Amino acid sequence: MIDTDFDARHLWHPYTSSIQPLPCYPVSHTSGVHIFLEDGKALIDGMSSWWCTIHGYNHPAIIEAIKTQADRMPHVMFGGLTHEPAITLGKTLLKLTDNVFDHVFLADSGSISVEVALKMALQYQQGVGEKKRTRLGALLGGYHGDTIGAMSVCDPINGMHSLFSDILPKAAFLPRPVSKDGEPLSEVDKEALTRFFSQHSDELAAIILEPLVQGAGGMYFYSADYLKALKEHCDKYGILLIFDEIATGFGRAGSLFAFKEAGVNPDILTLGKGLTGGTMTLAATLCSAKIAQGVSKSAAGAFMHGPTFMGNPLACAAANASLSLLEKTDWEAKVKALEVQLTGELSPLSNHPNVMDVRIKGSIGVVELHQPVDVAKFQVACVNLGVWIRPFGKLVYIMPPYIINQQQVSQLTDAMTALIHSR
Ligand code: PMP
Repeated sequence: MIDTDFDARHLWHPYTSSIQPLPCYPVSHTSGVHIFLEDGKALIDGMSSWWCTIHGYNHPAIIEAIKTQADRMPHVMFGGLTHEPAITLGKTLLKLTDNVFDHVFLADSGSISVEVALKMALQYQQGVGEKKRTRLGALLGGYHGDTIGAMSVCDPINGMHSLFSDILPKAAFLPRPVSKDGEPLSEVDKEALTRFFSQHSDELAAIILEPLVQGAGGMYFYSADYLKALKEHCDKYGILLIFDEIATGFGRAGSLFAFKEAGVNPDILTLGKGLTGGTMTLAATLCSAKIAQGVSKSAAGAFMHGPTFMGNPLACAAANASLSLLEKTDWEAKVKALEVQLTGELSPLSNHPNVMDVRIKGSIGVVELHQPVDVAKFQVACVNLGVWIRPFGKLVYIMPPYIINQQQVSQLTDAMTALIHSR
């Protein structure tokens, strides 16, 4: 028996209170698209364990790669030593990102890869003599992680700025773009960009944003033309552009990477979540040779970051197996089919009085309600219906593993429909 009593009394879960912990379901195992609870109930996972399990759970090729690597070398320090799994992964990441980048930093989580990206940008500006460029820019509605640097570039209202305002660096925020996905750049956004750069062009080291899809900050989709215009402004002033593709990467939003769909190459790119197919914690920060050289010319003479588990061989082996699966399977057709099915099955909800908006992009299906959802109540109902969907705020959304079949997708969308109707 899983000791849920101990769990409730002693273990922190994401964003929970120790005084009033949210209910937590004991899981015995996982397989394919299913999470199996200890009582034997099978749940279809609509969340891909927060965007990660792109090939479903326990894919034999990834499990085998981890087992083989565990026997050979689970870990070795990356300072002064290297190994084949990291080198293979580095080569694959550079190839998959069309050789836009030249250097790969293997970090241990998404938030850390964001810290690495921010530090790279700040060190680069020091290295090229732009000593006054010490401030960071970001978008309202963005989310980049929970560490101090990452929090400073998250949305200041939805994020945790008010709690930590005295210690967070003060980033400069652009309004959330109003130009919608597929639409040209609006006058409103054009003016906002001009105004922002007229105020901040001398002080910014870099601007960080999630391209095309803002994830945890609101599941919001916006125009590729916005990114093109932003890039022009950044290039004009020597401000670096960082794309955080921790959520959008590896096909989730319909293209392998959102920067490819937008046709805009950033200076620095962060990747995570789906990288290991949801098996091990690993993220990566990629940058061009120009950035790496600038960083290396800074006073320190080196890039000043080096976590204990950097380049962990087990995680790299898992990532290599996951990326090789991605290359071998027609994920693009699968994600397209998911987009078509989600559009067909979720769009009718837009007529419901409780619903403010329905939006679908790639394998992401979002229903935004007028009122916030009671997460605990919603989850009890989901579990009763045999699905795992975890809403936040006013958003009920799914992003299933790419291997999900049509009937299982319908079970997810039927559950969403039933629960939204019953509110
Ligand atoms: N950036 C984005 C866009 C994310 O969605 C997340 C995680 N939700 C992070 C950064 C932080 O990643 P992690 O939770 O692995 O630290």
